Amino acid sequence: MTERIEDFDGQRRFDDRSACDRQPGPARSVDVSGRCADCWGPIAGTKQPAGEWQHIECLVCRRAVDGNDAACEAEAMRVEGEDNMAAARIGQRANYRPDARFVLKLLPEMHRDKAKVDQRIEASLAQGRKRWRLTRHEIPPGTAGYLYAQARAFLAGVENLSREKSAISLSDFEYGEPQVVGVEKSPADGTLRVTGSVPVTYRRPSGRELMARMGTALVAGMAGAFACEVGMKAILVTRLGGAAKTHDLLKLYRELPDDSRGRLEGDFPEIADVLGHSRETFGRWRYFEQGIGEDAIRALVDTDRVWGVGKAARVIADECVVAGLNYEIDIDTSFEFDWRPGDMSTAQRIHLSLEGGESSIVWEELLQAGTDDGSSGREE
Ligand SMILES: [Zn+2]
Repeated sequence: MTERIEDFDGQRRFDDRSACDRQPGPARSVDVSGRCADCWGPIAGTKQPAGEWQHIECLVCRRAVDGNDAACEAEAMRVEGEDNMAAARIGQRANYRPDARFVLKLLPEMHRDKAKVDQRIEASLAQGRKRWRLTRHEIPPGTAGYLYAQARAFLAGVENLSREKSAISLSDFEYGEPQVVGVEKSPADGTLRVTGSVPVTYRRPSGRELMARMGTALVAGMAGAFACEVGMKAILVTRLGGAAKTHDLLKLYRELPDDSRGRLEGDFPEIADVLGHSRETFGRWRYFEQGIGEDAIRALVDTDRVWGVGKAARVIADECVVAGLNYEIDIDTSFEFDWRPGDMSTAQRIHLSLEGGESSIVWEELLQAGTDDGSSGREE
């Protein structure tokens, strides 16, 4: 029997608000998706025939738990997800167990009001172009979703890269048979003390291999930083009608609305530090230009930073969803037949389409509604 791979994806619906209620209020539906607490990668696993989880694994960093540990982790995730539900429905941050290995990310479908948001976009267009800002003139209504799609594409690319990113890898070492090097008898109590050693040979990787590993780290770091940049710009444009024309990740982060930053910090408490350390990865640093210092060059190939930027990018991509951004990607193929006596040729046309959509969520009113009554509604 082959085991079925399952994920934690699902949806919760709430019917505590009448369908006629057009006022901003708690989300009526919340998508649920499993995440690795270490790298925020998607997770999957297998279940026992009785339905208990027996294996959970991160699809990005491969961290895993098995057996009873997996069952306990899944139960803790479920309880925590329920505890976070009411807050998520009104756009508040999540709280996770400090020792969580995996968590449930809640993605609420917030109340939308297209007419109000159209007005806001009109007003933002009426303000005219600004030299140092990306505005609605550069990113017309609907297209912020493209930026989000770009962030997801970069992330998907990074996840396909080789995992071998550090200059020194465990696979460079070969371990021999343990050898006894000495035996001593203690004169006091007669106990024997045996000392041994394990021969280790370090196989120095070739220059070409080292360059390839450094290059993989470089590509992953830059793509991750760029995914952070376009993701934050997508959120800024859809929420505030514009973003600074900069590659500086920390600057963009500081421009985000408070509630958005709150949710990001809930998912990744160190996100501001990580973005600060890698703030110019895709800006000045990508040129290896003189004068930027050794620190910047090290940042480009430092695997810890590459990990941090990748996690930040994944957390930001989830925030794009909560902010109301979406995209659809599709491939249309059509065949053409060309028939002549004695000869037939076929041609295939491929049309790749990408459609970006964006938020018509009335955030200000929603957040206001959330603080006014202090409650978040009952569950079904
Ligand atoms: Zn992971």
